[in-house]
Amino acid sequence: MEKLKIAIQKSGRLSEKSLDVIAETGINLNNGSRKLISLASNFPLEILFLRDDDIPQYVADGVADAGIVGENVMMESGNQLEILERLGFARCRLSLAVPKSVNYAGPQHFAGKRIATSYPNVLQAWLSEKNILAEIHVINGSVEIATGIGLADAIFDIVSSGSTLISNGLKEVEKVLDSEAILLASPLMNSRKKEIIGEFLFRIRTVLASRNNKYILLNAPNKNLNKIINLLPGMKSPTVLPLALEGWSSVHSVVNENDFWQVIEKLRSYGAEGILVIPIEKMIV
Ligand code: ATP
Ligand code: ZN
Repeated sequence: MEKLKIAIQKSGRLSEKSLDVIAETGINLNNGSRKLISLASNFPLEILFLRDDDIPQYVADGVADAGIVGENVMMESGNQLEILERLGFARCRLSLAVPKSVNYAGPQHFAGKRIATSYPNVLQAWLSEKNILAEIHVINGSVEIATGIGLADAIFDIVSSGSTLISNGLKEVEKVLDSEAILLASPLMNSRKKEIIGEFLFRIRTVLASRNNKYILLNAPNKNLNKIINLLPGMKSPTVLPLALEGWSSVHSVVNENDFWQVIEKLRSYGAEGILVIPIEKMIV
């Protein structure tokens, strides 16, 4: 029977979250002792565990039908593959940083400078686009110490909170790329595999929607009901039921994680009371 092969990182920052999102789709993996390959018992799928840097090439060659990697890794690999979905974890950015004492006046600062990085291709593309000639030093790991030891004048590296830069006496001066984990597809899938990945993607989207939304219930004074309904569009439109107490209604809807606190604040200012927020187990979009 045809099986979809999905490559994920063997061990690193993406591994656990990649397995989590797959587990939430209800697919069971027999991966007690994380081997090279793990087979699903209730879905036509197998997982290949690889180094993240190898995943884009394996997906491009069709050795894997799909893969989960950081967007930064796909960009660096030079393979422009189809992104089926952005997965919302491992968010980071690739940025240029210089010692904090440097007076930085713009990208031309880097002309003739030595820049240390593990992402030479992404950096070179950015420099070329700006017509800047610089010397790129490729180092793998501990890029952030390169200026301190006199190996480079600047670094180009992954930044998330920025605390690593600060503790190495650096400041971020140019953001080049935003990245998060992405689900990639191979251009070489046959029609059966395309069908399977369609079903897998539907499940992944259901998981992401459930993670990003909450069910909300509240009591609304009828005089502000319209304003409250407009704040809570829900999936189609909110459910509104009269309360036994005259002049009040119960409103049920769905609210997105991203505007959650803003919406709550407005609801309170419109006199909403008894607000309950409940996680959603599955949300079919
Ligand atoms: P491998 O051994 O598989 O080559 P690696 O050392 O290259 O692993 P990790 O450090 O596990 O990679 O990082 C994997 C991905 O996680 C990175 O490519 C990036 O997309 C993302 N990432 C890295 N650092 C951070 C961070 N500090 N915050 C959020 N995401 C990050
Ligand atoms: Zn890697």
